[in-house]
Amino acid sequence: ATPAATMVGSTISARNGVLFKGSDVLEQSRGIDAVVFDKTGTLTHGEMELTDVVPASALDDPATDGGVTPDDSSTTDRGPTIDPGFDEETMLTAAASAEQGSEHPLAQAIVEGARDRGIELSGTDTFENVPGHGIRATTAGKEVLVGNRKLLRDDGIDPTPAAATMERLEGDGKTAMLVAIDGKLAGVLATADRIRESAKTTVEALTDRGIDVMMLTGDNERTAHAVATELGIEPENVRAEVLPEDKADAIEGIQADGTRAMMVGDGVNDAPALTGAHVGLAIGSGTDVAIESADVTLMRDDPADVLKVLNVADATIEKVY
Ligand code: ADP
Ligand code: MG
Repeated sequence: ATPAATMVGSTISARNGVLFKGSDVLEQSRGIDAVVFDKTGTLTHGEMELTDVVPASALDDPATDGGVTPDDSSTTDRGPTIDPGFDEETMLTAAASAEQGSEHPLAQAIVEGARDRGIELSGTDTFENVPGHGIRATTAGKEVLVGNRKLLRDDGIDPTPAAATMERLEGDGKTAMLVAIDGKLAGVLATADRIRESAKTTVEALTDRGIDVMMLTGDNERTAHAVATELGIEPENVRAEVLPEDKADAIEGIQADGTRAMMVGDGVNDAPALTGAHVGLAIGSGTDVAIESADVTLMRDDPADVLKVLNVADATIEKVY
């Protein structure tokens, strides 16, 4: 775009809570084929709340869930890997104490959920973040794992006794996490997030314009699909369980056939994808690194402002040519 065109665009958009960085952005925002949204913090508020605390003794019976196939790929010589001895409070105390060292929104939800339930936390002696999978910590003399199925499997703990509970919670669009204490499955925790008000109408409006709407998330397949269904995003357009370091590759894959993709994200994980996309949009309340990596910042955290970016780009170019 010419400097004049850029100025017009920036003036219109600054008033509307959309900040453009650099002069090429408006031109690049024309002819977008796909808009790829991060899920947590972008399509949702990213304010997770602890909703379910299920100790091992209260897990759903797999037999009542249409018969879950046991996963014997993770048999172990550590003996039985479930401990039904932990009650709700012991399990949550250990998990929340362990999560104090993490800044992940899931961790914050667990810590706050424990405090809301009047639980006093212990300190941690060791803490390790396992990116994309969870955390490992020692607290009050216990070794505690909180995270996904892979985190437990990698430690030789079979997560299948919790399969029916996990699937039920994920089917509701919640993020379910496994808790293990001293090498045994101790229970399941789940958090829920609220979808942003304008997310569904934005998906509809983009689809009506002939733009492919996609979702890219580190969260598990079932949760991602439950949220996608609620928003009207096609199942084949969902990329779930994408590790932080693989989000940029996913964008590259989408753009490999010449697709011009716009990526919208908020997290540290999204930064390389925001840089790699044809146009990167950051949620204004997102992380600094996401905003630095993006071409546009949506100051109002409103997914509907994606449409404004497309409209301003079209209108500005029309004026000039
Ligand atoms: P997202 O992109 O959705 O923020 P991440 O890549 O950070 O997801 O994490 C992927 C998955 O790993 C989460 O859905 C969760 O199951 C697990 N996980 C990551 N960090 C934590 C944590 N601090 N506590 C528990 N589970 C975690
Ligand atoms: Mg996010």
